[in-house]
Amino acid sequence: MTARVLIVEDERELAELVQIYLQNDGVESSIAGSAEQGLSLLDSETFDLIILDINLPGMDGFDFVQKLRRTSSTPVIIVSAREADEDIVMGLGMGADEFVTKPFAPKVLVARIRALLRRSRDGSTTVVRFGPFQLDINGYTLTRDGERVVLSSKEFEVLRHLALHPGRAMSPHQIYSEVWQNEFGDVTSVAVYVRRIRQKIESDPRRPLYVQTIHGSGYRFNPDTIQAGGAV
Ligand code: CA
Repeated sequence: MTARVLIVEDERELAELVQIYLQNDGVESSIAGSAEQGLSLLDSETFDLIILDINLPGMDGFDFVQKLRRTSSTPVIIVSAREADEDIVMGLGMGADEFVTKPFAPKVLVARIRALLRRSRDGSTTVVRFGPFQLDINGYTLTRDGERVVLSSKEFEVLRHLALHPGRAMSPHQIYSEVWQNEFGDVTSVAVYVRRIRQKIESDPRRPLYVQTIHGSGYRFNPDTIQAGGAV
C-alpha cells in the first residue's frame, strides 16, 4: 500500500520540493496552501501523515492541530522557522508528533516521515484489550466501550509500547529510546506523555490502574487489567 502524505504549507516552492522528494521515495502527497484547505481535504480523503507549517494565511498550524486532534490520531510533523514554536508544541501538548526547524534538508524530513510511517504500521499483535478499552495496534486507535479515545500518535506509541510489555517495568530512558529514537525531544517528555495518557484513560490519574509508576524503575502496564485472550 502506498503511503499518502498531506503537506500543509503556503510556500508553494517548498511544498513542491518536499513533494518531489517524497515521490522519489514512493510516497504520494497532496499540497494544501492553507489550514482551511487542509481540513477540507481531510474531510474527503485519508492520509497516513501530515506535514504542517505554522505560519499560514488565515488559520495557523496550531489551530489546525487542535481541530484535527478532536477526531483523528494521524501523525503530524510540524515544520516551522520559529524555534519558540517548539516550546509551544511541547508545553501545550498540541498533539503534534515531531518538530522540524526550517531550513531543513529534505532528505532528513523524508527519513523522519519514513520512520513515523513505519512505526505506525508495524507490530504483529493487533488488539490489546484492558478494562473497557481496546487498543488497536494496526488501526492506530484506542476505544473505550466502542467510543474513540483521541490520542496523539506519540501518546498512542507510548501506550502501545507499555501495553505490549505488560508487567515489565520500563525506565523513561528505555521508553524514550524506543518511541522517540533519534527524534526531537528529550527523556523528560516521557513523564509528560504518561501524564497525558493517564488523564485520558485513568478514572483517577493520581492513582493509576493501568499505567503504573514503579518507584525507582519507571512505568509498567498492569498485567492484571488485560483481558484473557485480549492480546492476539
Ligand atoms: Ca508559511
